[in-house]
Amino acid sequence: MAKIAFIGLGNMGGGMAANLAKAGHEVLAFDLSEEAMAKARDKGCTPASDAASAVKGAEAVVTMLPAGKHVAAVYAESVIPHADKSAILIDCSTIDVATARDVEAKAAEAGLTMVDAPVSGGIAAADAGTLTFMVGGSEDGFGRAQPILDKMGKAVIHAGGPGAGQAAKICNNMLLGATMVATCEAFALAEKLGLDLQTFYDISSKASGQSWSMTSYCPVPGVGPETPADRDYEGGFAAALMLKDLKLAMEAADNNEAYTPMGAHAEELYSRFVDRGGAGKDFSAIIKMLDDSWKA
Ligand code: NAD
Repeated sequence: MAKIAFIGLGNMGGGMAANLAKAGHEVLAFDLSEEAMAKARDKGCTPASDAASAVKGAEAVVTMLPAGKHVAAVYAESVIPHADKSAILIDCSTIDVATARDVEAKAAEAGLTMVDAPVSGGIAAADAGTLTFMVGGSEDGFGRAQPILDKMGKAVIHAGGPGAGQAAKICNNMLLGATMVATCEAFALAEKLGLDLQTFYDISSKASGQSWSMTSYCPVPGVGPETPADRDYEGGFAAALMLKDLKLAMEAADNNEAYTPMGAHAEELYSRFVDRGGAGKDFSAIIKMLDDSWKA
């Protein structure tokens, strides 16, 4: 079993680090939050006094941090200067493609192997060890990261070279944001046209309008499988995080001259929803904004 440094023990990282410890790895854990550190200790991780001491001597380093600026700073200050040359570095945070490529290049200059491995699946999947990882990096890096990621997920897919994991993640989530808005609009219109919403679901879920947003994450309470809509949109995937991913997608589109008008519109709608107090609600709650009272 390996000695693994884990930095960033928040909503996602806490469960992921616990699963590595449960699998028998020695997990040296660090977070700026005392509370997160205490929870990790209770779940079998060994608290480290700072990120650099967790990294020293570790065979693998896993990071799960909020955004690109945190990843760039932690790798520059604590990971790259202190990691063993034989260690595999795995960043699971969702960050912009440009920063992911830049940090991986800096690690490579220092003779270190790094992969970007963002996840699909929320806090429940992180706790249950059923995340999907999309991995960017060399074949060698992927091969070394895979056995570690396997302990935290149900699928580990090699997306391509450095930054490809982040690219796959933001393209997927741009699609998710746009299909959720379209699904919400379709249900709102169906209601105004006098359709019974369960009946509309039964039809559309078997017709060409079907999507994951409809059949796995239906935004209408009491329709389809149990979803956050049935819990007043609590839990699930916060609208603020959907907005974060849409902003990353729009940034990447701008930097690469891609025309993404549906993605841009989804970003604008989620931005409006978050500004109006929806940040902490599941992203399917945007259906509420389609009420007349919410119109701009
Ligand atoms: P979070 O805010 O709960 O956790 C981030 C943790 O990083 C916090 O505990 C914070 O204290 C810690 N941290 C920040 N700077 C640090 C530093 N310099 N050193 C050590 N620790 C530091 O966020 P989260 O929900 O766990 O998300 C983490 C990443 O996963 C994000 O990039 C997010 O976009 C992505 N993600 C989240 C979800 C989700 O459902 N929450 C789903 C998929 C992907």
